[in-house]
Parts: sequence; C-alpha cells; structure tokens
Amino acid sequence: MPQPIPATLIPGDGIGPEIMEATLAALQALGAPFQWETQIAGLEGVKTAGDPLPADTLKSIRRTRLALKGPLETPSGGGYRSSNVRLREEFQLYANLRPARTIIPGGRFDKIDLVVVRENLEGLYIGHEHYIKIDDDPHAVAMATGVNTRQGSRRLLEFAFEHAVATGRKKVAIVHKANIMKALTGIFLETGLELYERKYKGKFALETVIIDACAMKLVLNPWQFDVLVTTNLFGDILSDLVAGLVGGLGMTPGGNIGTDAAIFEAVHGSAPDIAGKGIANPIALLLAAAMMLDHVHLPHMATRLRTAIDQTVNLDQVRTGDLGGTAKTADFTRALVKRISNG
Ligand code: NAD
Repeated sequence: MPQPIPATLIPGDGIGPEIMEATLAALQALGAPFQWETQIAGLEGVKTAGDPLPADTLKSIRRTRLALKGPLETPSGGGYRSSNVRLREEFQLYANLRPARTIIPGGRFDKIDLVVVRENLEGLYIGHEHYIKIDDDPHAVAMATGVNTRQGSRRLLEFAFEHAVATGRKKVAIVHKANIMKALTGIFLETGLELYERKYKGKFALETVIIDACAMKLVLNPWQFDVLVTTNLFGDILSDLVAGLVGGLGMTPGGNIGTDAAIFEAVHGSAPDIAGKGIANPIALLLAAAMMLDHVHLPHMATRLRTAIDQTVNLDQVRTGDLGGTAKTADFTRALVKRISNG
C-alpha cells in the first residue's frame, strides 16, 4: 500500500465540482493514496470567504505543496485579479507543462503526442505596462517591459530537458524570436544552447525554431515536433495551438510546477453555460490527475487512468455531448470506473 500523500483539492467554480466528482471517483477506483484537504478559491472563495484566494487555501497548499484544481472564474476587465496568476506567483510555479495527445482517432490531426513547456513567470507577462499621455490623449503611447533572466531561463530549460530525458522524448525544440527580440528572447536561446552543450548533448536532439515558423510548421506537419520549450507569451499561444490539434481545450490538462509546489488543472474554464446540467466532460481534469500521479512517482496508476479513458471513449464509445456523444458526466464516470476496476 503506497504512503498517504497530503494534497489540496480545489473543486472550483461552474462545472468544477461536477468534473472533480468524476475525477475523485476515478482516483478512488485506482486506489490513489491522496489525502485530500478540500479548499475554496475563485468565485466560491469570494462568496464564502470574501477572497478569491483565501488565506486557508494558500496555507493548505504551502503545507501539502501539491494541488488538484478545478477551473476558477475570473471576471474580465474589472473585478479581482486572476487567482490562477496569483497562485503562480505565490508558489513560484515557473514551469507550465502542457501535454497534448490524440485520444479520439480519425480527426484532422491524428496520432499527436506533443508537449509544450512554457516559462510561467517572466517575459512580457510580468505586467510592467504603462501609457504616455501626449496632448489630450492619455493613451497616446502604450509601453510594456519584458524581463527574462538567465536564472529564470535556465531553470525552465533544465526542467524541460529533464522532462524530455525522464519521459524518453527524442527531440526538443527551443522556440524563440531572437532574430528580432535579440536580448529578450536571445537570452533564452543562448542559455538553452549552452545548457544543452554542457549537460544534455546526446541525450536527445535539439533544434531551434523561430516562433512564427514554428506556428506554421505545427499546422503543416505537427509530427516533426516532440517537446517544445519557450518563453511565457509564445508558450501561452503555442500551448493552445497544440490543444487545438487534439480537439480543443476540453481534452487538455496542464501542470504548473515550481520550487515550492505543483498545481494540476484542466486547461478549460468554468463553462458557466453548462454548469449544473451534469453534461460536462471530465477528461481534461482526469488527465490532469494522471499528470499529478506521474509527478508523485505513481506512473503505473497514471498509465492505468489514461488507458481507461482511452477505452471508455473508444471501445465503449461513451462520450459526452462536446465529443458528439449523449453520455452525461455520471454515465461517463460509471463507465470509466468500470474500466479502471476491470483493468
Ligand atoms: P470555458 O472554457 O469555460 O468555456 C468555453 C466553451 O467550452 C463553453 O461553451 C463551455 O461550455 C465549453 N466547455 C469548457 N469546458 C468544457 C467541458 N469540460 N465539457 C464540456 N464543455 C466544456 O471558457 P470561458 O467561457 O471563456 O470562461 C469561463 C470562465 O472560466 C471565466 O470566468 C474564465 O476566467 C474562467 N477560466 C478559468 C480557467 C482556469 O481556472 N484555469 C481557464 C480559462 C477560463
């Protein structure tokens, strides 16, 4: 029997509690040893504790250093700051790991198996922006500062390279725009090349690709890539692009990993339009739970979970509405748990 692993559970807003219920049922069927501390955040946090990221939730993650999180609602424009961004900063979650793998064969892009590793804390997303007023136009000039550091680049690149080695990947592409942003993305490229020469040469092949060419190549022939590692803004865009190659955000998990904690989540939002109807697809959160199992060194359970998802969708043909099926979340969960229990 594996040791109990304390972990924070944030069901989240909208469809969050519905897909979390499905995920917990699957983890229980697997015998996953997580010892959950249930906490609130997002809109639920505002309603119950007057804070989208209550102190108790932060305290719990500080203690467990591990969390599974449902989607959190963030108002656009005004309102409170995204709890997701705050969590990233608070726990220095510098690496965003976004695997994209085909689950339902026969789509426009078949047999996709890619990983995007995105720098999560630096670059153009640090929020140093301002306007300059000229005459009577207060927004005459808009400015943003991007910051990439040697140390920040190195730890992210090292994370990506270690991940490639640990998962037997053959090729890593460093994606950049060092031909134009020579300093801001040049430092990332230069650090990656230096690190590869010093520590990883021969362990996998390394290539460098300019972001715009990379986007085109991913659409023309995504199979030429394996692991893509890049800075914050490019990674944000590319990780959604590769999610699109495997059927959209509903099938895509994400891991935010740092020195102080690791938080796993579905990439999609709280889907307020279908919340409470019992029709949400729990696959993205289930795949996030599989990443979490890999993270705590229980890869056999992660594989069992991924295999059971494949079997439920493809052999049993049990699919929710977004995948063209008629199953409700509870039907899918029942079929999945049966697959896990029989597997
Ligand atoms: P969304 O991902 O919630 O929904 C987009 C569309 O996809 C909707 O039609 C929705 O019904 C559908 N959808 C999403 N997940 C689904 C699932 N599992 N099964 C079936 N259908 C699904 O995006 P949005 O509407 O732009 O955002 C809603 C809220 O979620 C916003 O407040 C936003 O800030 C938040 N959000 C949170 C996260 C996060 O916590 N990681 C990510 C994105 C958006």
